[in-house]
Amino acid sequence: MTNQEDVFKKLISHCKEYGFVYPSSDIYDGLSAVYDYGPNGVELKKNIREHWWKTMVQNHENIVGLDAAIFMHPKVWKASGHVDAFKDPLIDNKDSKKRYRADVLIEDHIAKIENKIEKEVQKAKKRFGDDFDEKMFRKTNQRVLNNQNKIDDITKKFADLINNNDLKGLHNFINELEIVCPVSGSRNWTEVRQFNLMFETQMGSLSVDASKVYLRPETAQGIFVNYLNVQKTSRKKLPFGIAQIGKAFRNEIVARQFIFRMREFEQMEMQFFVKPGEESEWYEYWKKERIKWHESLGITKEKFRLHDHDKLAHYANAAADIEYEFPFGFKEVEGIHSRTDFDLSAHQEFSGKKLQYYDPETKESYVPYVVETSIGLDRMFLAVLSNSYQEETLEDGSQRTVLKIPPLVAPVKVTVLPLVKKDGLPEKAREIMDKAKYEFMCQYDDKDAIGRRYRRQDAVGTPYCITVDHQTLEDNTVTIRERDSMEQERILIDEISDIVRKRIHNNI
Ligand code: ATP
Repeated sequence: MTNQEDVFKKLISHCKEYGFVYPSSDIYDGLSAVYDYGPNGVELKKNIREHWWKTMVQNHENIVGLDAAIFMHPKVWKASGHVDAFKDPLIDNKDSKKRYRADVLIEDHIAKIENKIEKEVQKAKKRFGDDFDEKMFRKTNQRVLNNQNKIDDITKKFADLINNNDLKGLHNFINELEIVCPVSGSRNWTEVRQFNLMFETQMGSLSVDASKVYLRPETAQGIFVNYLNVQKTSRKKLPFGIAQIGKAFRNEIVARQFIFRMREFEQMEMQFFVKPGEESEWYEYWKKERIKWHESLGITKEKFRLHDHDKLAHYANAAADIEYEFPFGFKEVEGIHSRTDFDLSAHQEFSGKKLQYYDPETKESYVPYVVETSIGLDRMFLAVLSNSYQEETLEDGSQRTVLKIPPLVAPVKVTVLPLVKKDGLPEKAREIMDKAKYEFMCQYDDKDAIGRRYRRQDAVGTPYCITVDHQTLEDNTVTIRERDSMEQERILIDEISDIVRKRIHNNI
């Protein structure tokens, strides 16, 4: 097992042990790619969600919110292209009987060649030390150039095959690249088939009048079909945005990697409506804004990258992913797409209703263009956790596992701890807790020695521990312990709220 796989396994068991994420229906041995969030998970998820909402809606006067239903008229999905095109190419290995996404097999193959380049660069970096010019090295080293050419050729051919829906070609290409099944190691592949990812169900109680409906595979369409309702009722002028957070469902072919790829998940999407011709400018704007948001959650520059798409979805004229380096490699967390007028025009055609904007300045009516930012809440949750999970050896040689979650989104902000369970300390601690708990998510802990209690709080990422000791009774001061530095300071009880509030919002 590689070190990274090991870290990931530990993170998954940490999530269960500390009440972040459980397998769904755990007592029935789980349900594939469906997960439940426990007491700490639900708080962390809520905080990330709220931070997104505040940044996108509250902080932008020209963005408003929406909460559309999960069920929508089945024609919506015909118009959006999902009925015909929301498919993944699947392929089986005849020896291992394992199923894969053909496109992912090729992407993983490309990632392996990228890794070779990275290794070459790292080796050279070590050899040349401070004099190393990475840009120059990448431009001139023959091995790097050969590998980069390979990647470019594969990417181009792959994009052509996908865009032409050439399944036979995809199958041949997998053979040509000599891609083997990671489980059986063989190249005994079936043909590539298309598989629609939408879940279907019936609406109506009688089978005769029941009609087929889908569980929405994305929240975006709820925004498009409400475009006119929202524009009219909120009297917004272009450019303006509509934001929505909600569940989406996809019958993923291969659902591995914990909550990275689930069959039921939550999206946070914003569709920004602009005048045609202005979309590129806004696309660039939103790429920058979204990166800032990721940075506000403590994600360091080396840990994420922007990846421009070569293979464009049927609705987009430009697209980029923000990728985070999970323990299993760089993977998409958020997509930013310039969707043109594809969706609104399609709904206009299928519904027969005009979805145009009357521009009071030019006195023209037109279908707006759209720039979308779409992020998976669960993936962001996993990115925050992966980014914050650390095992440290302390000065005294002892170990601690700590989640260095940014205080703003940490599940519990403050834990109040009476040093001992006597001498009036619990009563004082309760008083502090009762005062603070409406504003901050607080916990009270009086079990075990203080050191063990601190460790427990580190493991769930509580940024501040307030300890009540005998001095508290004399001068109304407590200690506040900071999770990352483990430093303690004496402060007045009356200052607790202000200090905690200030520190939580420090980075924003
Ligand atoms: P992928 O290529 O990984 O399947 P996608 O390109 O299909 O993702 P989008 O349709 O752009 O994803 O959806 C927007 C966001 O929704 C993604 O960036 C991701 O964070 C999230 N998302 C998509 N599918 C899943 C899933 N099965 N589980 C969890 N989150 C998901």
